Amino acid sequence: MGIVVQKYGGSSVSDASAIKRVARRIVEAKKAGNDVVVAVSAMGDSTDELLDLASQVSPLPPARELDMLLTSGERISMALVAMAISDLGYSARSFTGSQAGVITDSVHGKAKIIDVTPGRISDALGEGHIVIVAGFQGVSADTKEITTLGRGGTDTTAVALAAALDADVCEIYTDVDGVFTADPRIVPAARKLDRVTYEEMLELAACGAKILHLRCVEYARNHDIPIHVRSSFSQLDGTWVTGSIDDLPEPGTQESSMEQAIIAGVAHDRSEAKVTVVGVPDKVGEAARIFEALSAAQINLDMIVQNVSAAATNLTDISFTLPRSDGQTAMAALAGLQSAVGFDSLLYDDHIGKVSLIGAGMRSHPGVTAKFFSGLAQAGVNIGMISTSEIRISVVVSEEDVDAAVAATHTAFDLDADEVEAVVYGGSGR
Ligand code: ADP
Ligand code: ASP
Ligand code: MG
Repeated sequence: MGIVVQKYGGSSVSDASAIKRVARRIVEAKKAGNDVVVAVSAMGDSTDELLDLASQVSPLPPARELDMLLTSGERISMALVAMAISDLGYSARSFTGSQAGVITDSVHGKAKIIDVTPGRISDALGEGHIVIVAGFQGVSADTKEITTLGRGGTDTTAVALAAALDADVCEIYTDVDGVFTADPRIVPAARKLDRVTYEEMLELAACGAKILHLRCVEYARNHDIPIHVRSSFSQLDGTWVTGSIDDLPEPGTQESSMEQAIIAGVAHDRSEAKVTVVGVPDKVGEAARIFEALSAAQINLDMIVQNVSAAATNLTDISFTLPRSDGQTAMAALAGLQSAVGFDSLLYDDHIGKVSLIGAGMRSHPGVTAKFFSGLAQAGVNIGMISTSEIRISVVVSEEDVDAAVAATHTAFDLDADEVEAVVYGGSGR
């Protein structure tokens, strides 16, 4: 008998009838002769609603209390899913992340899973129960506090459970039929990918394609767990996230040009902001002081650009992007440095967006950047910043240009499907 690990996202358990539908699907997997373990997200947009509520009570809630609040969302859905299963005549046991043995570091709000000790899950399976685990949460080994894994973290719970239980695959059920060449909410002509490598999926997730949590893809790659992303609203086969770009046919061979698409997809991200430090003295060590202060404040930067210094003044500007949620912390950390470094001023812009083109084939196909930029130019989109990796090109544009930039890029690379196949079954896209 195999172990099946499934994950249902918030849009798949948004109300009572959705929960009953999901319960029927879970029971099908059990009836097929499997041991079934399910990670569930909070219902619908309830995590956002809890965050809104917290901000009405306090503009900067203590991180520990925020985690206590947010983990309640998954606790509600896990118990309701278990009840709906028992109503179908099957027995289910729900467990919080802590009860399920999800052990994390102690960073509230973006904790990392460091171990999974699934003793209680194995016992419950052994007794014939279906196991439902609250996603997105764990318990810190050091502090014994309850932690959360960051937005979208239930995907990571599911993959970590699949790895700990030695499952063959982790099924991620959501409100679209798989991973598409762009967010189908923005590009209705997006195409479903049958398969995507871990590396390409990592770049897509890191660049804002929230269909999968970044850590979940890292975890799956490290533990060699294939992920099957599919819809809980249809029976269609979804997208398999598996394999490495290193195993693709050798670039330049006939096999590679026949089988391998150059581009996996276009991702966008509206969650970043841009900070510019204006008038930094152009001498050794100044950039280091700025970035040390940001690192001490635990801020992860994305793109960094330093202008050539103006000859007359010997001053330069340094710009970087970072999560909007860290914007105020970063500005405070830099303001404290102004007299020591001697820069002129700080600028903060949160009306930006990032658009990224991702594909293993760009390693061997020249001209991808030129095509990307001319597509943007034809759509009248101005480029603010640029960064690249081996299989990705990203640009920062103004926030209102994001949709147009994604659509233009999708068309420029001939990704548009002839007939619209993308269906968005539910969810608010929030
Ligand atoms: P869940 O509630 O199931 O976790 P999410 O809202 O987190 O679902 O993720 C699913 C959403 O991800 C889709 O509804 C879609 O709008 C968005 N999305 C962004 N990029 C992509 C992509 N490349 N392929 C598919 N969906 C994407
Ligand atoms: N409920 C959490 C969120 O909305 C975790 C998840 O859905 O994966 O981010
Ligand atoms: Mg999600």
